[in-house]
Formats: sequence, structure tokens, C-alpha cells
Amino acid sequence: MASDFAGTRRITPPVNDPIRAYAPGSPERASLKARLASMAGERVDIPIVIGGREIRTGDLSHAVMPHQHAHVLGDVHMATSAHVGQAVTAARDARREWASWPWEDRAAVFLKAAELLTTTWRDTLNAATMLGQSKTVYQAEIDAACELVDFWRFNVSFAEELYAEQPVSNHTMWNQVEYRPLEGFIYAITPFNFTAIAGNLPTAAALMGNTVVWKPAASAMLSAYHLMRLFEAAGLPPGVINFLPGDPVMISEQLLDHPDLGGIHFTGSTGVFQSMWGRVGRNIASYRTYPRLVGETGGKDFIVVHPSADPIEVAVAIVRGGFEYQGQKCSAASRVYVPQSLWPEVRDRVIAMMQEIRMGDVRDFRNFMGAVIDRKAFTRIKEYIDHARANASILQGGGCDDREGFFVEPTFVETQNPGYRLMCEEIFGPVVTAYAYPDDRWLETLEIVDETSPYALTGAIFARDRAAVREATSALRNAAGNFYINDKPTGAVVGQQPFGGARASGTNDKAGSKMNLLRWVSARTIKETYSPPRDFRYPFMGDE
Ligand code: NAD
Repeated sequence: MASDFAGTRRITPPVNDPIRAYAPGSPERASLKARLASMAGERVDIPIVIGGREIRTGDLSHAVMPHQHAHVLGDVHMATSAHVGQAVTAARDARREWASWPWEDRAAVFLKAAELLTTTWRDTLNAATMLGQSKTVYQAEIDAACELVDFWRFNVSFAEELYAEQPVSNHTMWNQVEYRPLEGFIYAITPFNFTAIAGNLPTAAALMGNTVVWKPAASAMLSAYHLMRLFEAAGLPPGVINFLPGDPVMISEQLLDHPDLGGIHFTGSTGVFQSMWGRVGRNIASYRTYPRLVGETGGKDFIVVHPSADPIEVAVAIVRGGFEYQGQKCSAASRVYVPQSLWPEVRDRVIAMMQEIRMGDVRDFRNFMGAVIDRKAFTRIKEYIDHARANASILQGGGCDDREGFFVEPTFVETQNPGYRLMCEEIFGPVVTAYAYPDDRWLETLEIVDETSPYALTGAIFARDRAAVREATSALRNAAGNFYINDKPTGAVVGQQPFGGARASGTNDKAGSKMNLLRWVSARTIKETYSPPRDFRYPFMGDE
């Protein structure tokens, strides 16, 4: 469908969505509490959505509250192999029109989604994220509301910049670059830990004219369901994003073996992404085009402290960076290097703060932490804590209790060995391990930080001495895709700190930036000559 709009359309420059405080007595607190109560009293039926059609298979899995696992929030209909094929067909059918829309009309869908989310849908997405993923109100607000609103508004602005980039022309020719959507469908696979990522991965590709098969994470189905409804409320045409809950292995194998796979937009663990990349590699000769592979994966994020650092600032960064959302952020601080001269003060301050942390049902707003996501996570984290009990010192925490919810106490471990297992492996839970290094071994410690883990996602250096900041920034150049100076390594904001890491942490295509959008287009260069030559001969060929 061709554009019949005459004129250049302008996008309003985005600003970051303000974080609401939810202080006692505030209207936003009362309104959210009411939505939490109503949602906890519902049990929603979550269908597959293909080509705008809701499908119920009756083969159900359950969405529960991690902090009260007997409480079922929703029944999820699981897709079969036939639905996977139907989703690809629906995406292909929807692509014909969606890909030919003027980009501003696609953008309008996501700008409207952002406006709905920041107003009438805010409580719904925040409540679903709190109840279904056990986020505190603040953690839900910065994720399900602010970050997702920002993704949509900033991506539209980045798309505008990208589409405006054109090559040089002159009076004899016109050179143009057309930013075509990729051929085929995009497979979006999203993690449990950020509602904003679940919302961004399918929509970033869709904004650029692609159509998508979206497989949400089994442990974040309540917010995923509400997101899908929000897309529809914003006017997203049927089939542009197809919602396919189900067995990840069955769905992925079928989609990765499909010749029309145009790209993968993945966030999750390193092992899963590597296995998908391997399958794509084995299939490479059978695709119609080389699929774009975009994956943001695991981390083993560090805080390294110089002797000139302020111990109070360091302690707060450890507690917030390590334990907020139960340490289940890819960016969570989980290994800490403190000089021996500062260690007693940093250690004691961290322990004192941890003793004040309340953990429990996130509907009680006094809690700083909720439960970890599911039994598998609980068991994995507990194994790491048991290992620390036998091989290191647990300075604080260590308790695990899964009777009512999957609760793991914030846990602070000290090791004498910087190569100890808990300093190297991603735990993805509220466990921070510290190593106190000799003050005169600062440079050697930076080398250890760089070489200890295969990941390179986030990291922070604390120092008041500027020379030390320079040394760390240089020595750790490839150790983190998001590097913080005197700040905790979590909490990246769209438009301010484009997010992503390299090495085993991902392809570093920086979610919420122009770099990411570039992966969802395939440029066509068009040269038009105004007066084509009419003689094949060149002047040099003339007679002497
Ligand atoms: P996960 O890898 O278990 O799951 C991610 C997605 O992959 C889910 O949709 C899941 O159903 C699917 N999946 C699981 N096994 C699969 C398989 N064998 N084949 C195909 N798909 C499969 O990760 P998670 O527990 O949801 O999220 C936590 C992980 O995500 C951590 O490693 C964390 O560091 C990472 N993460 C990274 C970033 C980042 O930006 N780098 C952001 C958030 C989370």
C-alpha cells in the first residue's frame, strides 16, 4: 500500500518516562494497590494468538506467584507443532501489508502503546509484573512501565534518524538507500526477568517493518499476556506479532529449521543462545537469506574498588546492585574486589544494610526483595549457597525457604580465592561473593577481573583517584559492554546508557538504540542516472 500522505512527518523528540514514587498516601499507590487486589482475585485464561485469532488447546501450564506458589494467576494454553507452522504463515501473510506501510504509521502504533502504558495500562502491567515475577513496586515501575515506554518512544526516534541517513548525490544522479525489512519472519524469544525486554524484542523488529513469532518465557506469562493485549489495544494489525506460549525446544527447533527464518531476537542465558546459533549454523545452506542473530545473554558482573574509594558508596552499590530483584538482573553485581585496607568497613556496612532488608510478598511495599522466579532457580541458587558453606565463608544470609514462596535470603560470601567458582559462574540470584585483595596488587587485580569469567556485560569501578579510574577503564576495556564509574552496574536507562555486552554476554547490539534497529533492516541501494551515456566508447580510446 503506497503512502498518500503529502509532506514530511515529524516525530516528537522523546523524553524518559518519569518514575513514580508510590509513597504512602499517594494516588498512584492507592490505584496500584487496587489493581493488585483485583488481579490477585482473577484467574486469567491465556490463549495462543495467531493472526489475531485466539486459540485454546486445553493443554495447560500455570502462571503462579513466585512468592506464594500455590496461588495460580493464569492458565496458559500451550502451542502444538501445528501452531508453530500457522504462526509462520500468519507472519508471512501480515508482512505483505505491514512491510509496505509508511514507517510513520507503524511508529504510531508503538507511540500509542507507549501512551496507553504510561496512563491507563500502567497499573495493569506493573501489577502483573509484581504478582507474576515477584518484583517490588519500584522494580516493576522502572521495568514494566518506564523502560518499556522509553523503548517504544526512543526506538521511534532512532528509526527516524536511521531512515534519514542517505548517501551523497549530485546533479547527474540520485542515490538512495531504502531500509527494507528483512525477508522472512523474526523469531523473538524473551526472558522472564524484564517485562520491558519482553515488550521490546518483538516490537523493535516490528517497528522496522518485520513480522514476528514471539515465544514468551514460561515464568512470566501473566505480564506477557497483558503485553499482547496492549499491542492489540494500540492498533497492531493481526499477524504482525504472533504469540506462541509453549515448549521452547519444540518451538525453537521448528522455527530455526524453517527456510524463511529472517532473524532471531533473543535475550536469555548464554547456553540457550549458543545452542540456537549452532542449529542455525548447521542449517545455514537451507535458508533463503542469512538470518540475523541478535542475542543478549548472561553476565558475571563486577564491582572493583580502589583504595581511594568511598566505602559507604561502595557498600550501597553492592547492596542495591547485588540484591535488587533478588539478583535476577543480567547486570546484577555478583563479584566484588575490595582492597584489604577498606574491606573491614565495606564488609561491616554491607552486612548492616543487609540486616535491614525485608523480604516477602511484594504486595507489602515495605519489602525490598521478593521471591526468586521458580523452583528451578531456587534449587540452582541453593546449590551455590551450599557450595559456599563448604568452601568459603557466608558472612550474611544463606537461608533458603520454599514452603510458601521461593525465598532465598540475600547472601554475602567471602572467599580467599579470586578464582573460586562463585567468582566465575553466573548464579542469577541474590548471592554476592567478595575477595579482599592486597592494596599493592591493584593492577594485578584488574587483570584478574578481566580474565576471571567468560562474560563481559556490566562492571563498575569505585575510586576517587582519577588516575585509578583511567587505569581501570583502560584495563577493563573489553570486560564490560556497560561500564560504570562510581555507580552500581545495574539500572541502565534507554537513551542514556545503551545496553549490551560482548564475549559470552551477547552480540552487543545495544537494545533501545539505533545499533539494534539496524539489525532489523536490509538496505537496498538505488542509483538513478539522469542522462545515461549513449556511446560505449571512452575519450581515452580516441586516436592520437
Ligand atoms: P533462559 O535462557 O532460561 O530463557 C530465555 C528464553 O529462552 C525463554 O523464553 C525460554 O523459554 C527460552 N528457552 C529456554 N530453553 C530453551 C531452549 N533449549 N531452546 C530454545 N529456547 C529456550 O533465560 P531466563 O532464565 O529467562 O533469563 C535469565 C538469563 O537471561 C540470564 O542468563 C541473564 O543473564 C540473561 N539476561 C540477559 C540480558 C542481557 O541484556 N544481556 C537481559 C536479561 C536477561
